[in-house]
Amino acid sequence: MRYLLKAGCLIDGTGGSPRENVDVLFDEGRILAIGDRDTIDDTDAAVIPAFDKVVLPGLVDAHVHICFDASCDPVFNVRHEPPPDMMIRGVCNARDMLHAGVTTIRTLGTPDDLDLHLRDGIRQGLIPGPRIVAAGRSLTVTGGHGHYYRIEADGPAEMREATRLQIRSGVNVIKITVTGGIMTPRVRPGVSKFDLDEIRAVVHEAHKAGLKVAAHAENPEGVNDALAAGVDSIEHGYFMQNTEGLDRLVDTGAYLVPTLMAYDLIADGLEQGVPPEAVEKAKAALEYNTAGFRSALDAGANVAMGSDAGTAFNDHGRSWREASFMVRHGMTPMAAIVAATRNGAELLGLGAQVGTVESGKIADLIVVDGDPLADIASLGNVVCTIQGGRIVMRNGL
Ligand SMILES: [Zn+2]
Repeated sequence: MRYLLKAGCLIDGTGGSPRENVDVLFDEGRILAIGDRDTIDDTDAAVIPAFDKVVLPGLVDAHVHICFDASCDPVFNVRHEPPPDMMIRGVCNARDMLHAGVTTIRTLGTPDDLDLHLRDGIRQGLIPGPRIVAAGRSLTVTGGHGHYYRIEADGPAEMREATRLQIRSGVNVIKITVTGGIMTPRVRPGVSKFDLDEIRAVVHEAHKAGLKVAAHAENPEGVNDALAAGVDSIEHGYFMQNTEGLDRLVDTGAYLVPTLMAYDLIADGLEQGVPPEAVEKAKAALEYNTAGFRSALDAGANVAMGSDAGTAFNDHGRSWREASFMVRHGMTPMAAIVAATRNGAELLGLGAQVGTVESGKIADLIVVDGDPLADIASLGNVVCTIQGGRIVMRNGL
């Protein structure tokens, strides 16, 4: 089966100028050809009429908690929900993300390594969902951020063992929470938790196995240590301005995944039931977070979009809102689209396969109503999701 998608406009994810009146030919796998209107001769292909719509690559969300419930207090949910219930939630969240145009995600912390099973079920075609690059439970130090579901390890030897255990379990990426965080009670973001030699041990083992390392880091010391040890991405990355961390970020080419929306929603959530300690910490972090993001933009750092979906009020079907936050805080709409497509794919190690609309790539495509370059919120108006050349959602097209 072949399809000819007739796009009013194509934004291909490379950052190049949008192209009007373009046809995209794909089969149940890959993109076969891209050409001006009616220049591709294939009378057997089924036509998808999107003459007044915009076509983009499927979105890539680089920071997701696929089994969290996005309630006012997801920590409560994680601590009290039995794994089978959490798994059902994960199945529903994965479907919601796919229907919202997110065709690839990186899961950075899932109780009981449930994301590995979701990944495999989706890969086998048993359930609908984005392609998953999975970190499993992920690693922290004893009593560190997210300790109630992560693997706790201390000292380089235990870090090495924990990393090897996760590699044995079949993770695709190693996630560590280098510093404290917002949602974990009594764990301050300003406190650096991992020692440098502990991060080094993780990075050494992960890179040996060909896996990248994602580091949650929310203070300058944590960001510096993580980058000095060679991690591949800084998650959140607040307090980055006025430190050498920013120079390191640019020099190493590591990615920043700023997750701007998550802390905005938590900081605003006291009346909706977010625990007061989390609100207080999020408020304190907010200004540093957005200022850090702006300085990273000015410095030309690599940025990928990650929603932190699953945290308070950060539901999986609307992770595109992170792109809106990025624009609100200084990114151009085109740069935000690239962060949410090509850059995400590069960070996930899938840049050769997905992330842009180019001949030969896997046919992950979305069709949206409205022009996201004029109003980035148009990314929320997905009327058709195509994943691997299969139409997995169509709504009014
Ligand atoms: Zn997170």
